[in-house]
Amino acid sequence: MMNLIEKLENTRRLTKEEWLKVFRADEAQKEIIRQKACEIRDAVYGKTVFIRGLIEISNYCKNDCYYCGIRRSNTCASRYRLTKEEILACCREGYELGFRTFVMQGGEDGAFSDSLLCETVSEIKKNYPDCAVTLSVGEKSRKVYEAFYRAGADRYLLRHETANSAHYALLHPPELTLEKRKECLFHLKDIGFQVGCGMMIGSPYQTEEYLAEDMLFLQELQPHMVGIGPFISHKDTPFQAEENGSAEQTIFLLSLIRLMLPNVLLPATTALGTLDEMGREKAVLAGANVVMPNLSPLSVREKYMLYDNKISTGDEAAESLAHLKQRMQTIGYEIVTARGDHKSFIK
Ligand code: SAM
Repeated sequence: MMNLIEKLENTRRLTKEEWLKVFRADEAQKEIIRQKACEIRDAVYGKTVFIRGLIEISNYCKNDCYYCGIRRSNTCASRYRLTKEEILACCREGYELGFRTFVMQGGEDGAFSDSLLCETVSEIKKNYPDCAVTLSVGEKSRKVYEAFYRAGADRYLLRHETANSAHYALLHPPELTLEKRKECLFHLKDIGFQVGCGMMIGSPYQTEEYLAEDMLFLQELQPHMVGIGPFISHKDTPFQAEENGSAEQTIFLLSLIRLMLPNVLLPATTALGTLDEMGREKAVLAGANVVMPNLSPLSVREKYMLYDNKISTGDEAAESLAHLKQRMQTIGYEIVTARGDHKSFIK
């Protein structure tokens, strides 16, 4: 086992068979891996944690992903769409609190037009030239991604969800394909965005083989950010009776991803914080270096319910930043007011 970890540290890649062996590490080996991941993160980014203000701009979605609470077939979801003014008000509040990255995430909502999104991005960049803007609004054509980039967007998050096409087809309706998802990610990278992909851990039908394929895909794409969180079932989806993913497995994978991609921006995700109250601390102590508190207007937070019991208030709320800072200090880390770019993007 330890020779595989040494190989990973030296070459930053493993074969599928090697990943499968690493996944079977025992507790003592996992602890060594965790410590190494922390050392690497500390060497690259110091003992700092970057924050992102997450603005959930719309929960309308034309897609019907089987796992997702805002899928179009969920007639129980109460739908909302923020106006440009509401989003700008979130940024104003976020800037005061110390956020220097705003993440606009939403379902694939045709009525939130690409041009309105461009206008919103431009206005945020005009008002806050020292801030980064991240978009996460799903699959678009290359032309549209280029327009987002010209408008000033810096980063784009689009999880690949699973790198195995048979598995992808078990999580999504036929009109969504892994091939298209990957094409989008390569376009985004080519255009010049800091790009994030990622997968749910413990999603229905996932096997260790599929997870090993996810690791191979990360080796191939070399993303700047990787968002991973446990799958959590939602009561009004076809996966309502499926078992949740595990926080422990998610945390172990965070360490492995840090070893594979030393410079990566790695969030302690909301889903992890939902399953485990101490999830954020555990993630940072396993190599994560980003947290994304919720900056959406309070009136809509309950409506962006991707999975059951999703946290959006308490320490997940941007308003509770002081408390989150304290919690990070307790484990020896400092939340900083900075854009928090990927190492290769720091001018
Ligand atoms: N529409 C955009 C997209 O598809 O990238 C952004 C919104 S989408 C709801 C954001 C992410 O939520 C997805 O990439 C997925 O991994 C995650 N998600 C959705 N349902 C989930 C669930 N039941 N458990 C955990 N994560 C979930």
